[in-house]
Amino acid sequence: MEGLLDGATELRVVIIGAGMSGILSSIKMTESGYHNHVIYEKSDQLGGTWRDNTYPGISCDVPAHGYTYSFEPNPNWSQTFAPGPEIKEYFERVADKYNVRKNIRFNESVNYCAFEDGRWTIRTTAGREERADIVIAATGVLHIPYTAPINGLERFQGSSFHSSRWDHSVDLVGKKVGVIGTGSTAIQITSAIASKVEKFSLFQRTAQWVMPIENEMYSDEDKVNFKDSENLDAVVNQIHQDFDNFSNGVIDSESAMMAELEAECLRNLEENVHDPVLREKLRPDYRAGCKRLIFSPDFYDAIQHENANLITSGIVTVEENGIRTEDGEFHELDVLVIATGFRPDAFIRPTTVLGRDGINLDDAWESYPSAYMSVSIPEFPNFFMLNGPNSPVGNFSLIQIAENQLGYVMQLMNEIRLGNCSQISATSDATEAFEERRIEATRKTIWMTGCKSWYLDKNGIPSSWPWSRQQFFDEMKEPHMEAFDRL
Ligand code: NAP
Repeated sequence: MEGLLDGATELRVVIIGAGMSGILSSIKMTESGYHNHVIYEKSDQLGGTWRDNTYPGISCDVPAHGYTYSFEPNPNWSQTFAPGPEIKEYFERVADKYNVRKNIRFNESVNYCAFEDGRWTIRTTAGREERADIVIAATGVLHIPYTAPINGLERFQGSSFHSSRWDHSVDLVGKKVGVIGTGSTAIQITSAIASKVEKFSLFQRTAQWVMPIENEMYSDEDKVNFKDSENLDAVVNQIHQDFDNFSNGVIDSESAMMAELEAECLRNLEENVHDPVLREKLRPDYRAGCKRLIFSPDFYDAIQHENANLITSGIVTVEENGIRTEDGEFHELDVLVIATGFRPDAFIRPTTVLGRDGINLDDAWESYPSAYMSVSIPEFPNFFMLNGPNSPVGNFSLIQIAENQLGYVMQLMNEIRLGNCSQISATSDATEAFEERRIEATRKTIWMTGCKSWYLDKNGIPSSWPWSRQQFFDEMKEPHMEAFDRL
């Protein structure tokens, strides 16, 4: 087979996306001698999520020292939960250090991938067509904005934008600002701007559990200490330990951990929201951790600010200059932010992906997106995903997930490189068995205890890894080759 034997022709690898996992892929490809690789990036900049999301108050809810490539520790993080721009700068710095940019074709979106005659045909929006041996979809999980179909949205005459497309040309000072949604995004925006605008209105459909974790600044002395790898390792190990505890909790809804966590959030609500009417509006009616838990030391302060307004009556319609709610009230607005989240089931789509015999990924994923171990789909040979379907999105660091998945994928790639096969993809049997086990295990998780969240697929099943973090690492150490079709 053309291009598939080590020493004969170097394998051509196409990586899609220059976010966290695409940059990682390029670095690891180069280190392992896959020099013939390219990253197609739809935008003119790298950074993925951290390029797209620039809303006020953005930070990562995974502690910074745990949201760092294992091979590029950063003693200089400014605070426990790093702000978005600092994370983007980190990725840019790492990409520069490893000379990744030379491999990126910016402003070229892959819109077609088809497995034809044993290799992939790739087409991009720039009109380019090329052939590749291996495709790595490093397209991320939450990259397609979801704008809820809210009645009358198109009628609004003020400034309106999705939270992930923040319009920085709009000055919020002296403005009446409304935000729809109460996910992690909206809560961070609320903390950042509620007290700074003339009037702030948060349109809440569902109340959130809020864990009051402080976002401590690191002092210069801390940063000097972190330059000593022993000190830094101690912090990183502590973060991993905390993740393990939390992750073991969420996969067992009856665990003491989940009860403690709920008690802590409840204490936060009771002690820090003073008006009893507001407190009841902010009281969730489902288990803490069922939706992604909010970490915020200051959301309750922000929503109690004299300029802030929590609106829990449903939205009837958006009008030219505001929103009318079911209680008959009209909320005048100059700016409307849509913080209604993302399409979590998109992954590489809307790119057309055709596997063996022209099978369309949309059809393969008709019930819901799935993949063996989240990385490989039956009949889509030599096509691998990072942070793909049902990856451990729960509360792990997506960087650590991607690093482990890539290590696994590169072992599969080696099979091709060593000439053991020219095509490799998970078997249907292994994938079905994996999905059966996974779905069964989700039944015990906190995500199944009765709430709506983006963790659930359209069938109401959590699209997540329902086992421990350790089990994920163990599974990722080495692929079971009997789970793969090799031609
Ligand atoms: P999200 O968690 O999906 O929240 C969407 C919000 O929009 C929910 O409050 C939802 O209400 C509301 N909504 C949806 N449709 C609506 C409608 N028709 N009418 C009224 N409200 C509607 O989205 P997100 O806040 O952008 O966060 C998504 C994920 O991104 C997070 O869970 C997290 O994984 C990641 N993220 C992380 C950070 C961080 O690291 N700190 C920050 C931002 C985002 P319901 O709850 O009633 O459905």
